[in-house]
Amino acid sequence: MFETLSDRLTSVFSSLRGKGRLSDADIDATAREIRIALLEADVALPVVKEFVAHIKERARGAEVSQALNPAQQVVKIVNEELIEILGGETRRLRLAKTPPTVIMLAGLQGAGKTTLAGKLARWLREQGHAPLLVAADLQRPNAVQQLSVLAERAQVGVYAPSPGNGEGDPVQVARDSIEYARHKQHDIVIIDTAGRLGIDADMMRQAADIRDAVSPDEVLFVVDAMIGQDAVTTAQAFMDGVGFDGVVLTKLDGDARGGAALSVRQITGRPIMFASTGEKLEDFDAFHPDRMAGRILDMGDILTLIEQAQRTFDEQETARMAGKLASGEDFTFEDFLEQMMMVRRMGPITNLLGMLPGMGQMREQLNQIDEKDLDRVAAMIRSMTPAERQNPKIIDGSRRARIARGSGVTVTEVNSLVTRFFDAQKMMKQMRNGMGIPGMPGGKN
Ligand code: GDP
Repeated sequence: MFETLSDRLTSVFSSLRGKGRLSDADIDATAREIRIALLEADVALPVVKEFVAHIKERARGAEVSQALNPAQQVVKIVNEELIEILGGETRRLRLAKTPPTVIMLAGLQGAGKTTLAGKLARWLREQGHAPLLVAADLQRPNAVQQLSVLAERAQVGVYAPSPGNGEGDPVQVARDSIEYARHKQHDIVIIDTAGRLGIDADMMRQAADIRDAVSPDEVLFVVDAMIGQDAVTTAQAFMDGVGFDGVVLTKLDGDARGGAALSVRQITGRPIMFASTGEKLEDFDAFHPDRMAGRILDMGDILTLIEQAQRTFDEQETARMAGKLASGEDFTFEDFLEQMMMVRRMGPITNLLGMLPGMGQMREQLNQIDEKDLDRVAAMIRSMTPAERQNPKIIDGSRRARIARGSGVTVTEVNSLVTRFFDAQKMMKQMRNGMGIPGMPGGKN
């Protein structure tokens, strides 16, 4: 999801690195590239225009920052604007004061509504609710059967029409289900309605009738992200025909572009509330604009890191380290130790490392790093001779044994530290060639 856009934006940002300040021409060129990136990602034109205009305006007016270089400034602005078009705050489900809360799903056939009903029910059950799934999709063959199977898998209740029990009349089914839920103490009712393959007046009328019969607390419009620009047209039609409170995007796993996600909120003014990313019941979650923007930019929480660094790093210390790294000098054990100490002052190491770009997958591993580990590492480095710290390549077997003895650890631990150090050295090199890190203006010059 969003791979195309991520790649594009990353290359836009990297073309800015190394620049001391951005001229108007730089800003124009960047804005143009961002525009192309968004259009390629299938974002609707009016949304693209507004987005790019904001970026330009803000980049021009950006205050000169001591701690952020121009590339980082632009990343920060784009990130904030992405969050904005994705809806700003996470929009949570509104629960009724008097249960049951009624949630009605609307959307085209094949959008993934029925699957979504099962996913939402499971998700709510896990949060301690007792949802009831209601099969008011009486059009599509098998829809009722499919919903019953999903209810069983999600371990929630189901209300389906049977002969003499609202058969053939979805409005009646929906109305009766509320009574049933009250009686059986279900606190949330999820009504799956019928869709058609295309936008259709009958479908809209039926959905509107169900809406009027049950006065839902939330009408959710379910839309397949893979249909690209059509998502916007469909959303508009449903907005006019039925009206809705929130959007659920499905099949985000199948769309590398993600234009629907970036357009639908701006066009309809309704927030994206949930996202579905696969066929399994678990492939589903609440939609968080900030996390999604972070994923699009593939930056982890680099911005938080930048801000935290700005607050904590001592300027001189940073400048010295920056000068050293920018000049391409080798990263030594002295630096390693110094950095570790700086990082420690900034907060729990796991939080920080998790914020670095590309570290997302390593988060599991990072969670296992023990703070106490740091003391042992410091002890090992302090047991090294100055020559060893400056030039770690000379640390052979007998030196390792001596360091282990000197710091009271095993040789295995020394071995693993040396390996980790070389990894860090490699990473520092990559960073130097990449976006730059806090306080290090530019990257490779
Ligand atoms: P409905 O007609 O709107 O009720 O759509 P269904 O729930 O029957 O879904 C249509 C098809 O899309 C089914 O084959 C689902 O397995 C599939 N589907 C639903 N959600 C997702 C999703 O998030 N990702 C993927 N890859 N497939 C999905």
